[in-house]
Amino acid sequence: MTKNTKWGYLTNRAAVAIMSICVGLTGLQVQAQGTAIYAGKLFDSSSGKLLENRTVHIVDGRVESVQKGFAKRDREILVDLRDFTVLPGLMDMHSHLTYEFGPQAYMESYTWNPADFTLRGVDAARRTLLAGFTTVRNLGDQDNVTVSLRKAIDAGIVEGPRIYTAGKSIATTGGHADPTNGRRWDLMGNPGPVEGVINGPASAREAVRQRYKEGADLIKITATGGVLSVAKSGQNPQFMMDELEAIVATARDYGLTVAVHAHGKEGMIRAIRAGVDSIEHGTYMDDEVINLMRRNNTWFVPTLMAGEWVTEKSAIEGFLPDIVRPKAATIGPLMLGTFSRAYKRGVKIAFGTDTGVTRHGDNAREFVLMVQGGMAPADAIRSATWHAAQLLQVQDELGSISEGKMADIIAVAGNPLEDISELQRVQFVMKGGKIYKEPSQPAADIFVEPGEPG
Ligand SMILES: [Zn+2]
Repeated sequence: MTKNTKWGYLTNRAAVAIMSICVGLTGLQVQAQGTAIYAGKLFDSSSGKLLENRTVHIVDGRVESVQKGFAKRDREILVDLRDFTVLPGLMDMHSHLTYEFGPQAYMESYTWNPADFTLRGVDAARRTLLAGFTTVRNLGDQDNVTVSLRKAIDAGIVEGPRIYTAGKSIATTGGHADPTNGRRWDLMGNPGPVEGVINGPASAREAVRQRYKEGADLIKITATGGVLSVAKSGQNPQFMMDELEAIVATARDYGLTVAVHAHGKEGMIRAIRAGVDSIEHGTYMDDEVINLMRRNNTWFVPTLMAGEWVTEKSAIEGFLPDIVRPKAATIGPLMLGTFSRAYKRGVKIAFGTDTGVTRHGDNAREFVLMVQGGMAPADAIRSATWHAAQLLQVQDELGSISEGKMADIIAVAGNPLEDISELQRVQFVMKGGKIYKEPSQPAADIFVEPGEPG
């Protein structure tokens, strides 16, 4: 049955048919009911193993069942991925959809309006989704742009991943996410909890409650200095214990998790003791920190791409401000080694890239770096599926292709356990049962109309 030479046409029709609209085919009125995906190989993220020859049945945006062999039902749309490896949608736990870093970035806070950041976010969201990332955690924005972006994506107005956003990061005065760092003093002002700057437990509580009021899904704080902020230290502790405890206790009241930017050891130790959920970057993580993380079940989100990028850019004269360049040159090269040690010691690792430092859509480069750092390919993929879903506390909805979960499904041409870089060439993207990307050069017909024999 080789009649679907018009690839795009059938794809559109398949998408329509998934929504159970009547389509006339071969002279009959056939009501499409769900989708069947034939998976030549299917990555089981619960075990890290590849299964062979499976059919995934999808109804109303969810996986209804996964069965051995290839057998579509009468009225199902067929997506034939027998020549592909099918995986759960990828999940990036550290993204900044409204940023894209470059020498111009420091000027944007003076020259860009919220609408400018929003439009960048729309483009970034689309690129992220088409790269196979069906879920992201957005860890820091401005003007609540990613709350609105999340709503627009959920409403189907624009295309993008599922977003879990922290809104504006919470910092202390002069700390890594103080939005007026580096300004002339008369432009610095004195931002407070609404703008995400706290001093003391009372304003820490207020800042968390403000994020909740604005629609954030979780809390992000900057517990130590950072590389790219216009400030001297990249690793000093920037929150006191009482502030951290106030953040965590308040977040728990509202059902919010707490993600923590941290490079320096002391800031990490304080945050872990306060009971936060994840440490982002974690550059100066030594054995003492590793032991504490293991005891407290704290997640580590390594962001190796950011390390690679700042190392590269620190070598370019004039690319980074003078105050930033030495921090980038020192911290960047350490991150891969930290990751290797943490992985060997059994720290729980969830995938995160800090994209927004790097280009949106390049997120899967992180897998290559993780494998370079000694991680088994299957573990790297699990960090972006099974484990990321646990960090988000949505393991009943996302993170594997299994009965009852959302149909967030991608495919690559080769075997990513043999060549992890296959994930940089995602060929097929489905989110919530809707197809956003299809293979550019189908080996055979992938879509077969309802009613045809599979
Ligand atoms: Zn970040």
